[in-house]
Amino acid sequence: MLTTIVNVGYRSTNYWVVSAGTSRLLVDIGWPGTLGAMKANLKRMGVPLREIRYALATHYHIDHAGLAEELKKEGVPLLVLPVQIGAIPIMKTWTKPADHYVDITPDGNVTISFEQSRQLLGQIGILGEILHTPGHSDDSVSLLLDDGSVFTGDLPPEAAAYDNPVALASWRLLREHGATRVYLAHGPIRPLAPAPSV
Ligand SMILES: [Zn+2]
Repeated sequence: MLTTIVNVGYRSTNYWVVSAGTSRLLVDIGWPGTLGAMKANLKRMGVPLREIRYALATHYHIDHAGLAEELKKEGVPLLVLPVQIGAIPIMKTWTKPADHYVDITPDGNVTISFEQSRQLLGQIGILGEILHTPGHSDDSVSLLLDDGSVFTGDLPPEAAAYDNPVALASWRLLREHGATRVYLAHGPIRPLAPAPSV
């Protein structure tokens, strides 16, 4: 089935809906206290909330996972990788009361290993895998589709990561797995350049 990608982002942050027909995955999950804005953008882009089968945060910073608990209450399970479990409770330390952040509980979280990700995505018609791509934070993951599209969250671009060997290793991993087109959390879609020659 054809996979489509739409951006439902706001406030300088991209939130991507990856769809196989009406089976959908939300990649990055809104600022705290912005459920109304998220719902309005989903509606504007023609994405019924009830068709979102899972929400995945590329990492647990507030602009990427701020609505996770509220979306769970709306019926969207949160997909969690083991490297992210420890980062979830720390996120609230970056919020202020005025943010109206709703703390993420373990209830209803679907925790899977990276190895299980291809099978789980396949169950909702999406061909791809989730890979561990640290470099911005240790809990950062990327969704890589088999067509080469990759959702990297805040992984620093290679050109800016010369002093960040962890990020460079993550880019190498993504290239080895076939990534060709990068969907960042902030900024436009970019081609992934071939490996820089040394
Ligand atoms: Zn971040």
